[in-house]
Amino acid sequence: MSLPNPVVMSVLAFFLGASIGSFINVVADRLPRGESLVQPPSHCPACGRRLTVLELVPVFSYMALRGRCHQCHSTIPLRVLAVELIMGLLAIYVWLTSAVSAESLLVFSYASLFLLLAAIDLEYGIIPDMLVYPGLALGLLLTPWWRELGLEREFLNSTGRLSVMLGSLAGAVLGAGAFAVVILLRPGSMGWGDVKMAGLIGLVSGVPGTVVALLASLFSGGVAGAVLLVMGHRRVGQTMPFGPFLALGALLALLWGGPLWEWYVGLLR
Ligand SMILES: [Zn+2]
Repeated sequence: MSLPNPVVMSVLAFFLGASIGSFINVVADRLPRGESLVQPPSHCPACGRRLTVLELVPVFSYMALRGRCHQCHSTIPLRVLAVELIMGLLAIYVWLTSAVSAESLLVFSYASLFLLLAAIDLEYGIIPDMLVYPGLALGLLLTPWWRELGLEREFLNSTGRLSVMLGSLAGAVLGAGAFAVVILLRPGSMGWGDVKMAGLIGLVSGVPGTVVALLASLFSGGVAGAVLLVMGHRRVGQTMPFGPFLALGALLALLWGGPLWEWYVGLLR
């Protein structure tokens, strides 16, 4: 039996991931409005024109349409393309590094949840409890088996079951605590949704993964905020959704938490 061609498998993985990204976009648009996720079929939100079969192909439809509905010319948010691309690339990466395993399914599921939260925060400025709480519950249920599931996190120089669990809980407390402090110091700068999402990220990243996620999200959020300010897209003191930056930090911690931590520590030496 010959092994599947890696190029063919990567293309398949990309389209599977991008299609899940496409569904994440639909959920992000409809869930906060309490709409059904399947009915009506995909349509232009501005004019209601039903999308053709070709327009349902992720990534390529956005490019073919050049980001606009061809009937009413309303723009399709760049977020739609970004989520599809990130999910497609993530699927290739996960497939090439850990194929289909408990680890890859967990990483992929949590990455999907974080991107969904980011997309909803971007569109509606909320991070819904109804998505964060199930993520927290699943994470708490699974922490005793993180090692067996491949999300092995060293904590206090130990990979024992109890220390991995403690590492996860410490990550959750650290993530939520850091943002709670930000809210207490600068009320209105963040929402409690950010605090809960940071707690969830901490739970799945452990320690030091949570530190990597927090630093990456604060740094990228700070840079983006400054750029928007300079470009005149944001006023001084105006808040911006922080979910996308939390999701970015979480993805980095999930995929490369260990090496990035080594790099941070190296910078401090
Ligand atoms: Zn339209």
